[in-house]
Amino acid sequence: MVKPIDERYFYAVNCAYPNSLRILNKAQFDILTAIDNQSSIATLCEKLSIQPNVLEGFLNILAETEIIKFDHSFTKPKRPNTPQSLNFWIHTTNKCNLTCGYCYISTLNTTNGMLAETQTQLLNKLVETVNRRKITSIKLRLAGGEPLGQFKFWKGFIVEAKTILKDLGCKLIVSFITNLTILNEDILTFSKANDIRFGVSLDGLEQHNDTARKFRNGLGSFKVIDENLRKLIANNIPVSVNTVVGNHNLEGLPSLTHYLIALDVPFRYSIVKGEAVDAQLLEKYLSESYAIMQDAIQTGWAFSNRHQFCDLKPNELGFQTCTSGFSGGAIYVDGTLNYCHVHFGEANQPAFSIFDEDRDLVNMIEQGSHYEDMKSTDCSLCKYKAVCTSGCPVYRVNGKDPQCTIYHKFIPLIYELQARERLKLLQDYKMIAT
Ligand code: SF4
Ligand code: SF4
Repeated sequence: MVKPIDERYFYAVNCAYPNSLRILNKAQFDILTAIDNQSSIATLCEKLSIQPNVLEGFLNILAETEIIKFDHSFTKPKRPNTPQSLNFWIHTTNKCNLTCGYCYISTLNTTNGMLAETQTQLLNKLVETVNRRKITSIKLRLAGGEPLGQFKFWKGFIVEAKTILKDLGCKLIVSFITNLTILNEDILTFSKANDIRFGVSLDGLEQHNDTARKFRNGLGSFKVIDENLRKLIANNIPVSVNTVVGNHNLEGLPSLTHYLIALDVPFRYSIVKGEAVDAQLLEKYLSESYAIMQDAIQTGWAFSNRHQFCDLKPNELGFQTCTSGFSGGAIYVDGTLNYCHVHFGEANQPAFSIFDEDRDLVNMIEQGSHYEDMKSTDCSLCKYKAVCTSGCPVYRVNGKDPQCTIYHKFIPLIYELQARERLKLLQDYKMIAT
């Protein structure tokens, strides 16, 4: 993809090659657009009045990240044969202190937290799998329900698991997927000492969050979340915000964008799955939000490592949308291992148990359900297929992400904003003319 940034500069990117985005000046843009898959370097030199060694040098740079190739063998995203790392969603509890109207956990408030016996077996299975498979890193996302209501129960596990796995050459990374309404000194101190990360759900500011995310007594949760978010930031504890965008909070996206940029936390906007969203309003408020991000880039805000849109991977060589079915899954409160947490409580889903003596966790993932390769023909021809990978495998419609149209509009904009960020850095460091 080759597009203008302003009247003087352009960007080029290979959407299927990681970190390939380059800024081009007008002369470089002219070279790239003169390439027609037929003309030889000599012909191009003559046409553009460039010395062959200069042209060849530039083409070699472009070829390094496959913006061009001298043959037809472009790298294709490929799934590795075996996983080196694992990633599990752990359903620590069915209990939650909020009553969000749209919560998709069908088993919410039906049982309490994970039993000690199940937690111990989880560690046994992790150790067995690491030993057998030579796994070098594991990410556990402790979720629920509200996992911070179970914090004391998980402290000992985290310390023990980190120590045991480290001795086996495996790094354990733990994060809480939380509504962040429960936070105290104990949690802050422990999190700092043990490199715990936080993924926080937030729908918007004030009423845009509080419409759906209420406490049992009917009060909204925004004020508490805001206060706790600032405490995590003040303590240098890694935190990112996840906003699921639906009809109820669309309008609040621009004000939320201002807020998250001011806090300088990484944030992700995902579009609600399995539910209709007003497409026109979605486009309008997303466009407004990206315009705010564009302004912030000019003040030095780091767009590319602060914002993510849905599960899109503009800078990675994506071969699938998430780790489910390859190197990850979701472990329910009773030790059942599902393809994804959205399947918890569904009796018709094939599932294994961590109490199964005959299989390690990788066997269970391999032998479980597989939705990841069910993709449409459109997707196989799409220029953004490595960025989008057809979206969430569970919620595809006819093999496509229901937000395909929105992606086609916003993926080029995301690259353009990355290009603007890069151009500003190059200009600030005087590596390119202003
Ligand atoms: S869902 Fe749409 S954007 Fe995504 S890969 Fe398929 S065709 Fe491309
Ligand atoms: S299957 Fe879908 S909902 Fe589940 S983890 Fe993957 S992307 Fe997320």
